Amino acid sequence: MASDYSDILEKAYQRTKALNDEGKLATYIPELANVDPDMFGIHMTTTEGLELGNGNYLEKFSLQSIVKVLTLTLAYKILGEKIWGRVGVEPSGTKFDSLILLETNHGIPRNPFENSGAIVICDILISNLNDANKDFLAFVRELSNLPDLNYSEKIASSEKAGGYRNVAMCNFIKSFGNIENDPTEVLDFYFNICSLEMNCQQLAQTFTFLANGGRKLSDQKEIISPSQSKRINALMLTCGFYDESGEFAFKVGLPGKSGVGGGIVALYPHNYAIAVWSPKLNPKGNSYKGMKFLEELTTYSELTIF
Ligand code: GLU
Repeated sequence: MASDYSDILEKAYQRTKALNDEGKLATYIPELANVDPDMFGIHMTTTEGLELGNGNYLEKFSLQSIVKVLTLTLAYKILGEKIWGRVGVEPSGTKFDSLILLETNHGIPRNPFENSGAIVICDILISNLNDANKDFLAFVRELSNLPDLNYSEKIASSEKAGGYRNVAMCNFIKSFGNIENDPTEVLDFYFNICSLEMNCQQLAQTFTFLANGGRKLSDQKEIISPSQSKRINALMLTCGFYDESGEFAFKVGLPGKSGVGGGIVALYPHNYAIAVWSPKLNPKGNSYKGMKFLEELTTYSELTIF
């Protein structure tokens, strides 16, 4: 299987690299516009421990919304099923930073991956941890085996300076009573989590726990239960790509999560986690080449959850 994957990855990588990139860099977070638009890296880690990388897979990039899977993981671990009283499990069909459904749903976000849902998850973590910034970072450091991982002050403050929609959203949710803490504290934490950076290799390795029934691959320690892992994967499949989630399931057929930094992580349960990074985004806010690459990968491998 190892050489199968490596041939398939090489073919999908080369074909995608040759494409004309029709995407555009995210500019609403000024710091994100300062990356080299031609970066393109991929890395796969299999549950058997194989590591396969290509292109700029050792360059760090801003995880942005990808990290929302990890905040959800920690909050779900702490709160259990009660979490679903604060945030739903339905795709929104709207843009990642939309406020429109919050009015009709009385401040309960549709899912934990749209911005509103991730902000509520941040609020939950602040209420349940001694020091959310410190404790969440410690959780990710341990999960990723990256003891030196830190929030990027530069990216967090760049987003904070112009994060008017997220500020509006957090205050709006608070008006319905679904934010317990001070909105400024919740937003500062939210901007911090979005600012974490990893390279494709580190990202793929970090997400292997979701391809491994909730257990960290390197030491088999249980991070979350198999049932919780299944549910997070289900949410990634149905809600991981904003209003392009159906399209991703249709064309790729794997659980995954994208971020406006141009990264995507996807996984094939009991087989592998894969990360791809190419910073130019399609009109829905997902990496143009990242989406294409993963489509090629599952087409050539003929392996999807379906
Ligand atoms: N920090 C970004 C925001 O709140 C995350 C968006 C994303 O990656 O989808 O707008």
